[in-house]
Amino acid sequence: MTDLAAFAHGLPKAELHLHLEGTLEPELKFALAARNGIELDETTVEEVRATYDFTDLTSFLAVYYPAMRVLQAAEDFHDLAWAYLQKAAAQGVVHAEMFFDPQAHTGRGVPFDTVITGYRRAVVRAQDELGISAELILCFLRDFSAEYAMATLMEALPYKAWIVGVGLDSDERDNPPTKFAEVFARAKAEGFFLTMHCDIDQVGSIDNIRAVIEQIGVDRIDHGTNIVEDPSLVALAKERGLGFTTCPVSNSFVTAQMKSDEIVSLLNAGLKVTVNSDDPAYFGGYVGDNYVALAEHAGLGAADLVRLAINSFEASWLTASRRADFIARVRDYAAGNGVAVPQ
Ligand SMILES: [Zn+2]
Repeated sequence: MTDLAAFAHGLPKAELHLHLEGTLEPELKFALAARNGIELDETTVEEVRATYDFTDLTSFLAVYYPAMRVLQAAEDFHDLAWAYLQKAAAQGVVHAEMFFDPQAHTGRGVPFDTVITGYRRAVVRAQDELGISAELILCFLRDFSAEYAMATLMEALPYKAWIVGVGLDSDERDNPPTKFAEVFARAKAEGFFLTMHCDIDQVGSIDNIRAVIEQIGVDRIDHGTNIVEDPSLVALAKERGLGFTTCPVSNSFVTAQMKSDEIVSLLNAGLKVTVNSDDPAYFGGYVGDNYVALAEHAGLGAADLVRLAINSFEASWLTASRRADFIARVRDYAAGNGVAVPQ
């Protein structure tokens, strides 16, 4: 490992764009399939990895959803989240706000309660055993109806204390943010933070980004780097202090590149740009690996990585005092490694 890579991995950071279902490594997939008596088409880890060959979002989703059938009992959801949190801890994550897709499970007959109690157990255990604070973000699948999303929100209300915010993921094409305006208005009224995916180079991307900011009133945007196409929107996002959760390694899978120029340009414009791993089991990089990949690709140095780590807490949904504590940890780490960071 280079010095910069070691620095990046040790840097205290928050991960804000991580799909728990996207952390299913082939080894765990086999273990859960065996536990639940499910037959897989593949017989080796290599064969599973070979299916992780995507050219765009659609080809990724075609592999992603069928894999989830190995998740059946609360214990399975716990094991999935716990495996991720251990890996995250090893890459410097001290706070994680993690997406989960209940409809990917309730849609195949697994009760909402099973999903969330399993994930919640891992969240509590991470605090106790790893010292990581973790939160859950409920994501609605945008290729399903707004009515199903609303029903899922209602189902989630008894578990409100375990869910920090709501998000929107899956295929954005023909499923604009405004389709879910009512669901997100209700979620906001219930006290949830709001975020939505604005996918890279999606058809109508800039119009969707505008709607997400102006009509939905999100607190954060997932991906969203196409905002660089409209300087007036960049200015608006900055004025509102919106966080952007970028995922460089995932970008290079679903588009032709990492979008490092856009990420660096937004960072230098003073937006709260963060670096995250998205679906690390499928894209082959956890969050520290994403910091390193971006640094190598864009020629960033240690001080830039520190800015990204500070942004990860600035864009988080932590309370102001906890956010300040974490940022102080980042600054101590930088100072301890001889990296000068402006106040
Ligand atoms: Zn995502």
